Amino acid sequence: MTTAEQWTPASWKTKTVAQPVHYTGQNAEKLPGVLNKLSSLPPLVTPAEVERLRHQLSLVQSGKAFLLHAGDCAESFDSCTAGNIEKKVGLILSFSLVLVWGGRKPVVRVGRIAGQYAKPRSSPKEKVKVKGENGEEEVREVMSFRGDNVNGLDIKDRDPDPDRLMSAYFHSSTTLNYIRGLLSSGFASLYGTHPRDWSLKHVRSDSLRNSFTDIIDSLSDALDFSQTIGATKGENFEGGAGRGGAFGEVDFYVSHEGLMLDYEEALTRKNTVSGNSETNSYYNSSAHFIWIGDRTRQLDGAHVEYFRGIRNPIGIKVGPSMKGEELVRLVELVNPDKEPGRVTLITRYGADKVETYLPGHIKAIQESGHPVVWVCDPMHGNTHTSATTGLKTRYFKSIITELTATLEVHSKLGTYLGGASLEFTGELNDDGYSVTECLGGSMELSEEELGLRYQSFCDPRLNFEQSLDLAFLLSNHFKH
Ligand code: PEP
Ligand code: MN
Repeated sequence: MTTAEQWTPASWKTKTVAQPVHYTGQNAEKLPGVLNKLSSLPPLVTPAEVERLRHQLSLVQSGKAFLLHAGDCAESFDSCTAGNIEKKVGLILSFSLVLVWGGRKPVVRVGRIAGQYAKPRSSPKEKVKVKGENGEEEVREVMSFRGDNVNGLDIKDRDPDPDRLMSAYFHSSTTLNYIRGLLSSGFASLYGTHPRDWSLKHVRSDSLRNSFTDIIDSLSDALDFSQTIGATKGENFEGGAGRGGAFGEVDFYVSHEGLMLDYEEALTRKNTVSGNSETNSYYNSSAHFIWIGDRTRQLDGAHVEYFRGIRNPIGIKVGPSMKGEELVRLVELVNPDKEPGRVTLITRYGADKVETYLPGHIKAIQESGHPVVWVCDPMHGNTHTSATTGLKTRYFKSIITELTATLEVHSKLGTYLGGASLEFTGELNDDGYSVTECLGGSMELSEEELGLRYQSFCDPRLNFEQSLDLAFLLSNHFKH
């Protein structure tokens, strides 16, 4: 095993890369030029912002704040529009308001946004039905769709093209720019009409809409009161930069799965300034937070090698196949100095497997003395194909069951569930309706409705109403 001293932004190349992407022909020739250009472009996030998130995650770890990690399974270049970004950010803000209300704790918001383009696949190839030359349907084997930064969803566009990495950088940059603009222009402000505009108008359920509006009114009153008595500063939650930082009134961070190591390496920068960041440390400047997926977390693999050298807070997905001692060795590798706020473990077992696996993982970490943030991803262990429509979907009920079981195990073992990692979207279709990708919730979405507005080209997401249902459930849990 290489030592910490031997790490470089490129040392991952000496290891085996899981989920590799092979560029061929002219595309292979283009790759060095693209990476070279990417490495000279400005960073998307700054070391000071990354340190601020690390500090806030250390507060999550000690139970003083809650982490909301949420957004699309995968973003697409085509869905990068002002309207979609407003709806996605609006839902994250709405969800976090409900949580703040119930939990009486700050919520750290980390979007799966502004860079969540690459997707791991269970198989590099897939079989698709196409119309043959004689007009008859035939089954053809093509390269799997790997996300917009690798290849295209259209089966004619499945060759990996490095220009898509450049496109990913610019789409990330424009998304982030709009988020920064929105937040510094009062989009998150509880005053005025914004929270009511975020997406509420189309919510069918009166009680859901009224509960949410009541919370906004109460929070605005509370804010007015604390401003009147001059008590808005509170404890040092922000981590140095204070209110009114880069994101205006509220903090908002961006994240993606760090799957495409060529891209991550090109965006890795040695920090030369001192002050509120670590001089001479390497920061991944493509996002504040990146995570290692469940398919790329091999101890001797390229992804773990890359992740261990960067200063950013990182996530690690933990599924049923993870062994207790493997988990401890992994955390040891990426956080040898046991720094709080550095590692977030995102557990995703499936509703009926939580009791089997989570206690062992918690005990192994407890014995190792490693500080970690525990987060529940109730989505990825609960995906199935709908028998009637053939669409990938998730039951709202299974999502709730995994979350509730996880909360119970943590409270039994004396650990703190620091957050939730969710796939949801506030996106509406052209007629102003929510997407229909997950089953159930207070709107009781049925199998027959699934095909109506299924817009995800990857995993199914909770829609606005289903997400608020979940937010109220969590919020009520924290109230008691
Ligand atoms: C994801 O978060 O979209 C994902 C693919 O998760 P996992 O690695 O846990 O399967
Ligand atoms: Mn997903």
